[in-house]
Amino acid sequence: MNLAQLLVRSANAWPALPALARGGCVTSTYAELAARVARLAAGLAQRLAPNDRVALVMANCPQYVELLFACWHAGLCAVPVNAKLHPRELEFILANSGARLCFATSDLIDAVAPLAASVTCLEDVIAADGPRYAALCSGVPMAVAARAPGDAAWLFYTSGTTGRPKGVTLTHRNLLAMTLNYFFDVDAIAPGDCIVHAAPMSHGSGLYILPHVAHAGLNAVPESGGFDAAEIYALLQAHRGVTMFAAPTMVKRLVDHPGDADTTRLKTIVYGGGPMYVADCKAALSRFGPKLAQIYGQGESPMTITAMDKATHAASDHPRYEQRLASVGQAFSGVGVMVADAADRPLPAGEIGEILVRGDPVMAGYWDNPQANAETLRGGWLHTGDVGSLDGEGFLTLKDRSKDVIISGGSNIYPREVEEVLLRHPGVSEVSVVGKSDPEWGEVVVAFVVARDPRDAAPDQAELDALCLDHIARFKRPKAYRYVDALPKNSTGKVLKTELRKLLS
Ligand code: AMP
Repeated sequence: MNLAQLLVRSANAWPALPALARGGCVTSTYAELAARVARLAAGLAQRLAPNDRVALVMANCPQYVELLFACWHAGLCAVPVNAKLHPRELEFILANSGARLCFATSDLIDAVAPLAASVTCLEDVIAADGPRYAALCSGVPMAVAARAPGDAAWLFYTSGTTGRPKGVTLTHRNLLAMTLNYFFDVDAIAPGDCIVHAAPMSHGSGLYILPHVAHAGLNAVPESGGFDAAEIYALLQAHRGVTMFAAPTMVKRLVDHPGDADTTRLKTIVYGGGPMYVADCKAALSRFGPKLAQIYGQGESPMTITAMDKATHAASDHPRYEQRLASVGQAFSGVGVMVADAADRPLPAGEIGEILVRGDPVMAGYWDNPQANAETLRGGWLHTGDVGSLDGEGFLTLKDRSKDVIISGGSNIYPREVEEVLLRHPGVSEVSVVGKSDPEWGEVVVAFVVARDPRDAAPDQAELDALCLDHIARFKRPKAYRYVDALPKNSTGKVLKTELRKLLS
């Protein structure tokens, strides 16, 4: 099965439905998209051999969808790269993936083009909105190339906060499993529904192109190419049945946006990629109604470890509603999830351990990195590096990345638990808790706090302390508070705790 068949099938069944839009303006129907992809694939196949890698260093744009499907159609592997990386990081990824060809949007071409000289494997950098791209799209269409399920489709580079990024090899089987699991456990998509790509298409939002193409949904890219709350509210008036994949920080910015713009045409916000605090989740439910679904995944098991559907978010009369909202939901139908001890033995419900995953979405392995594969995939389970616990009904509560757990006086402290408590203070807008090394305790807890309104005085430390003493054990209380204007975040909205820890050393 080649993923390119998903597009061929939709174009056959729903040729006239809109496939791509920039802002409110439709740029292709399904018939047009499929025809263009078959021509672009032929253009690529003339220059490249099956399994070759093609890098996409591109801001969000409709051509992203064309290029992904053209790569698959031609039997090639796409390497979508975070467009916000430094040229040195791009250089590493281009060389590591062995990309022979790279496409870049015009805003990035000047930074990327010179890399053709320094990266030996890279033969050419082509502007994804220029005349050479148009020429590639104008040849004779080709038939979909044959692919085995285990062939690489997408190299997904990890954010590399603790070292060099690693290329996660996602196969046709992995991404098909992710697509089918979406329909099973996240949401339905009707032909003609829409996804607005406000988060980077090199990551989660781009992965969700697949279920939307599979059911002839419209892929709309905001004019700005990114996230702007006012623009999103305006776009909601242009399309119907709208889904967005959003990091929790984006959801919060939508909720905090002034005004009461109509959200009738919003169908679903799928959030994930970082912790959603219960108070923020409730605020979003009261702003949008029962339109929230959550996923927990990682590049190594793309978008597909656990999910919490809209119905669970809406069931506020459930006796364990609060705990459920604080969780990341239950294992996807086609996925095995285990919480394990240090010897990879399953732990009983309620006990905290590393989260292990297996099933069809789990990556084939890291690209050209046998050592990391042996470690991460040992015993046939993906070792996520995340720590959490399951309840008796299979709801998984994430504690933290194992490397973020604070060990103070021999006890484990999970930052998220402390963060949830501090966020209850009305003067706190955002907070991140990290460990600072300490000669006496090993580590002590430090909270970085962003005030809700920068004009107000920072929330009183004694009040924050009192709040902690009311809700969590004394030893978990921060020993110090640092007031900051903003938290450092990466382009997918994750708080960079490593940067915060550097501020303490
Ligand atoms: P990435 O591979 O860049 O998508 O990052 C994956 C990591 O993000 C996971 O290993 C988790 O630590 C975190 N993450 C993903 N989804 C969630 C979620 N729903 N809640 C909390 N953290 C999450």
